[in-house]
Amino acid sequence: MPSLPERVGLDVGGTRLKAGRISFDGRVLDERSVAVPADGKELADTLVAVARELGAEHSVGLGLPGLIDRERGLVLDSPNIPQLEELPLGELLSGALGLESVHLENDANAAALGELWLGAARGAEHALVVTLGTGIGGGLVLDGELFLGAGLAGEIGHVRIDPAGPICGCGGHGCLETLASATAARRRALERGLPEDDPGNLELLAERGRDPASPEGELLFEVGRDLGIGLSTAVCLLDLRTFVIGGGFAAALDALGPGIRAGIRAGAYGDRVDLVRILPATLGSSAGWIGAASLALR
Ligand SMILES: [Zn+2]
Repeated sequence: MPSLPERVGLDVGGTRLKAGRISFDGRVLDERSVAVPADGKELADTLVAVARELGAEHSVGLGLPGLIDRERGLVLDSPNIPQLEELPLGELLSGALGLESVHLENDANAAALGELWLGAARGAEHALVVTLGTGIGGGLVLDGELFLGAGLAGEIGHVRIDPAGPICGCGGHGCLETLASATAARRRALERGLPEDDPGNLELLAERGRDPASPEGELLFEVGRDLGIGLSTAVCLLDLRTFVIGGGFAAALDALGPGIRAGIRAGAYGDRVDLVRILPATLGSSAGWIGAASLALR
């Protein structure tokens, strides 16, 4: 056993499984990205094979989308990857690889742990790491540690912005993710026929949205403002001043930024917004597995 143990983390996304091995002091030693199989049994086999290739010993960390049962080591509910549900992943991995423990965590929380360890949230005492993608996930850092509450804290994507708004995957109406996720931005762009020559093209929308006077810029201001109103709840409730924005749609952060600040200004009292930092995440799609790896060997 090495004197400074290495850690292995895996992160299951909608289409890709990202995984890697990292040294105790945060040097990435190996990294993999493979397709996520559609079948649950195959997915479990793939997780075992990748963890084995990476030389997992003692324990691994696993980031997964959905509602996690950390004690039993399984995913209870995963709207985007239903093949994960009720698979005894903890048992399967520890049994196949002879591990002492397998640590499961929600993917947004895993990304937050990654950004906290080696990314934009490094050194932050209190922060919310927001994953802006197909949906909106959040990982809450309080006193330098991931805060789970009774288990589900940080779910900023399901803060209610408009009770009369679109229906959400959670069953509610007008949750933040129905208004400000990549999916929502695409829907709102399509409703307006933007961009005109290629409606619903998010990359084009983000590129043209850099001009605030363009129709794309106006839309992204509105989307950003809704996001900011969502974040203002965290400013009011927790006096948070650091927000780290990652996920695929964070590529549009330049264009979303002014709207985000306007939304926080509208939603939080006084001039709290002037104290708020909005930082782009720095680990990209590696944040999840790196954060999951940080759970191993704790
Ligand atoms: Zn919701």
